[in-house]
Amino acid sequence: MNKGGRSLTRYRALLLDADGTIFDYDRGEEFALEKTLQDFSFEGEGVDLLTLYRRINKKIWKEFEQGSIKAGELKIERFRRFSAELGIDFDPEKFSNIYLDHLAQAAFMLPGAREVLEGLKDDYTMVLLTNGLSGVQRSRVRLAGVGEYFRELVISEEVGEAKPAPGIFARALKAAGNPALEEALMVGDSLESDILGGSRFGLDTCWLRGGEREIPEELSPTYIIDEISQLPAVLEGRG
Ligand SMILES: [Mg+2]
Repeated sequence: MNKGGRSLTRYRALLLDADGTIFDYDRGEEFALEKTLQDFSFEGEGVDLLTLYRRINKKIWKEFEQGSIKAGELKIERFRRFSAELGIDFDPEKFSNIYLDHLAQAAFMLPGAREVLEGLKDDYTMVLLTNGLSGVQRSRVRLAGVGEYFRELVISEEVGEAKPAPGIFARALKAAGNPALEEALMVGDSLESDILGGSRFGLDTCWLRGGEREIPEELSPTYIIDEISQLPAVLEGRG
């Protein structure tokens, strides 16, 4: 028993977030936006287009997590807002389709992620649990060649619910073969989606901290790591 009174059962299942956890989403997003802007022959003219897009996209994903917008609307609405803020008229639906095609090709992994998956594959049932768009996520997993490591990909657009909502965690546990709650660990970089969602569901959580960030008092990840390559050591502690 540890201080919290829980017995230290060995984990059998890992629920892994995708973006910012095994994939370098920032790099992928930059790649896709740049390519799309080139396709549309944009001139930046002093506006930091990537920063503007990221601000709009972050806000709209929050709205999605809160349930006020659907994934199908989000895809296009973010570029409608982008167009409006820039004061440049383009077809947001066309822009979105081309952007998503480029994003689906952007399978950049974070350093060490592939090695971690390879090293853990024989000892853990792994499920990818991601808030994202089906076509984009499935394409990137395939292009990165990491599909074989996961028993299933659980993607919010397909489930119709996004982390931190409990239904998608239930879906992911089922995909992992229904381990007991204490036998599964949620690993992710988002305090809101992964850590709050996971711990509310009753899971132990491992927070992949990006840089120096304070943890709100109401959140207490079971483990905190700075990069994904530290995950095996965390798991060995429970071995
Ligand atoms: Mg993430």
